Amino acid sequence: MRRPILAANWKMHKTAAEAAEFVEEFLPLVADAGSVDIVLAPTFTALDRVANGLRGSNVALAAQNVNPEEQGAFTGEIAPGMLAELGCRYGIVGHSERRAIYSESDDFIASKAAALFAHGICPIVCVGETLEEREANRTLDVVGRQLVASLAGVPEARAAEVVVAYEPVWAIGTGKTATPELAQEVHAAIRSQLGECFGAAGDAIRIQYGGSVKPENVDTLMAQPDIDGALVGGASLAPETFARIVRFERLGGAS
Ligand code: PEP
Repeated sequence: MRRPILAANWKMHKTAAEAAEFVEEFLPLVADAGSVDIVLAPTFTALDRVANGLRGSNVALAAQNVNPEEQGAFTGEIAPGMLAELGCRYGIVGHSERRAIYSESDDFIASKAAALFAHGICPIVCVGETLEEREANRTLDVVGRQLVASLAGVPEARAAEVVVAYEPVWAIGTGKTATPELAQEVHAAIRSQLGECFGAAGDAIRIQYGGSVKPENVDTLMAQPDIDGALVGGASLAPETFARIVRFERLGGAS
């Protein structure tokens, strides 16, 4: 059985002080959340404060980005070892904002995922189609290509540690959510592709849905057989709202 994983992507929101305040309010709300993995991805400048606040809790720390190099002349960048030193357990790579705004390629994303692995950090690998690609019936081609290319550096023996986030670009920050059925269709295709890439380990890989997840839709999304969690932007910024998402209701016998 795959353990649900609910992750907050705060993007470029919250100063270190605001992030610390969130942690203080949030931890008591999820202290008895049960068998789920809960993850917070603050900005780089807040990682240290948040790491301190999370110590000894049931919530893990994630980075929103990483540079694949170990060190060197890369002004403004952060190396994977620096994130490991701060206690990051996860790292987001391939987010559509980085693909679109910073022109990140699948190869670059693959090298980031491999670099995180090398430092004991689980990559959360984001994939997803644009509205134009969906309307041209290219969703599965696009997502499949991103998936295979972005996971190219993942060692097969450790494939089960990867988290994939399916985030249709047209649903991110727009208030438009994929219906649970539509999301499930793509998740099932991703699952089958993961099986082709990694054999039985593909079945253990958790696939999150992302794109305007909120308290009103999380329960029905999480009831789908191949939706194992959520990557949440806007609705993760308020402690009560994200806590409700973490404490999703298990409908229809989903465990
Ligand atoms: C995201 O950026 O990963 C995301 C899913 O954002 P939102 O929840 O705001 O759509």
